[in-house]
Amino acid sequence: MKDTDIQIAKCYDLKVGKNTTGVRIMKPLATGLLPPPLALKWLMNQPVHSAVPGATAIEEAEENSLLGCSGGALTDQEQADLIDSKAYWDTRRCQMCGDCLPCPVGINLPMVLGTDVIYDHYRTMGPQGFRAFSWSRHAMEIELPKRKAHIQRIQSCTDCGQCEPRCPHGLAITDMLKARLPAMLDMVSVFEQLLASDS
Ligand code: SF4
Ligand code: SF4
Repeated sequence: MKDTDIQIAKCYDLKVGKNTTGVRIMKPLATGLLPPPLALKWLMNQPVHSAVPGATAIEEAEENSLLGCSGGALTDQEQADLIDSKAYWDTRRCQMCGDCLPCPVGINLPMVLGTDVIYDHYRTMGPQGFRAFSWSRHAMEIELPKRKAHIQRIQSCTDCGQCEPRCPHGLAITDMLKARLPAMLDMVSVFEQLLASDS
């Protein structure tokens, strides 16, 4: 997935336990789409020095850290699960390649359908978890206008059908756009209410 960033950087080598210059993987869980045990164990078997999975709770960070220490080869079942997972996400996750562009009404499809960290938080936390999370006022004030602009862009889609035949992964782009709207509208509502109650 393109939303899993690969960087050459100073990092901590998981396997030998020391700092080095090597390959660092950002968003190794594709912002919450991939199960940590499988994704992190797979990475431990790759030529990777360090991985930086995000966590929204101490327990998640602890779980990720323990997985980083576990090592060991993937079992046959885990290999099979990985192949299934790849086949599933290959046709459901935007790879941010940009082949579907241009959109005549100017929707930046890779930006809308690819990595969208706050939307991904909503998806993984669920509406209640998202509302209960301790968002900073600063984060909400930055996010609100961007999210409203995102929503406006999605709502401007005319269903012209030009984008989908260009997508090499066969994504149902217009359905994916529409499917995001209820969550995005709820996110805006949550942030507006939290900001109002905090003022
Ligand atoms: S179907 Fe919608 S998103 Fe796709 S190119 Fe047309 S206006 Fe843009
Ligand atoms: S062509 Fe498909 S995978 Fe590539 S950016 Fe567009 S929607 Fe995403």
